[in-house]
Amino acid sequence: MILEAAGVTKRFGAFTAVGNVSFSVREGEFFTLVGPSGSGKTTLLRMLVGMEKPTEGDLLLRGKIINAVPANRRPTCMVFQSLALFPHMSVGANVEFPMEIAGRPPDERRTRAWELLAQLHLDPNRYYDKNIAQCSGGERQRVALARALAYDPEIIFFDEPLSAIDARLRKFLQKEIKDIQRRTGKTFCYVTHSLEEAMVMSDRIAILRAGKIEQIGTPSEIYAEPKNAFVAEFMGEVNLLPVTGCVPRDNAPGAGEWTASLGKTLTLKLPSPLTVGETRKLLIRPESLRFLAEGERADNEIGVRIVNEFLLGSRTQYHVEASNGAALTVERLREDRPPETGGNLSRLGWDLADSQLLET
Ligand code: ATP
Repeated sequence: MILEAAGVTKRFGAFTAVGNVSFSVREGEFFTLVGPSGSGKTTLLRMLVGMEKPTEGDLLLRGKIINAVPANRRPTCMVFQSLALFPHMSVGANVEFPMEIAGRPPDERRTRAWELLAQLHLDPNRYYDKNIAQCSGGERQRVALARALAYDPEIIFFDEPLSAIDARLRKFLQKEIKDIQRRTGKTFCYVTHSLEEAMVMSDRIAILRAGKIEQIGTPSEIYAEPKNAFVAEFMGEVNLLPVTGCVPRDNAPGAGEWTASLGKTLTLKLPSPLTVGETRKLLIRPESLRFLAEGERADNEIGVRIVNEFLLGSRTQYHVEASNGAALTVERLREDRPPETGGNLSRLGWDLADSQLLET
């Protein structure tokens, strides 16, 4: 393990911003801390970087406690949201700055800066002498990354570096940053409020809520098995129906009659049993819902009215309303059969294996 947090807490007065958090980051890993605003991501990152000391617990770099080692004495560096480039200096001078501080000779600095710029797809012939003020947002982002790599740090930390960049360029840079991490084999520790961004880039993700880690896992583990409704909801477009256990119609485990969503009774088959009166969230992904043809069956079926339909490239998204008033999102491939409507209602179905009962 290159980096470990062991029971780390940070309190500001009586307020606990980070509460007893433990995790470890592996050498060469792309590790992302993700969570909504105020969940403690920046506070945790500031402790990992050395800009803040934990109130309790330990931070370890290669097994050595580094709680009190200041940022400038750690073999790590940080790429900020604001990038913190020197605006009056050229691209080349910005990238060479860490090597200048380290006392490297000018020839070596220049050669390395050219290498790094080329690696980040900034043609050194064009960019080396260019002023930072003349660079676009995406170019500045790459200069900041080249400068971070010029420190040759053991870990590079990133604090929401793409949040101010427009959506198309952001997607491109996400792939570039991931690609650079792969090529350099460096350990990257990244903070974002976007789970989508975390999913694209990371080897593993830690999801924070109110200063605590809710779940740690690979993107596919988190996608396949979100630990609770908070994590599932944070993943974006998912259907989470509140279901409350009532008297099971038959005693078959998991199946039976349950009060589902908005208080009306629907007969649903559930993937695991409820106890009477208990309310949980039923997770059904939009792509797991399908419109049923005449005579076609599914474990669960409900009548729905299609409210809206959107084309999303290769998929079509339907916003539907169940007869009990619940709103659901359905996503089908464009080549799938369009929904059949009898009167105004379509039959929507899903199979038990495609739904999960989550803690709220
Ligand atoms: P965002 O995505 O909005 O940046 P975040 O997840 O990074 O949020 P933090 O900035 O770590 O959240 O803040 C976590 C909580 O700690 C917030 O409620 C914040 O108000 C509080 N907090 C952070 N720094 C301080 C401080 N110096 N003094 C008091 N409270 C603070």
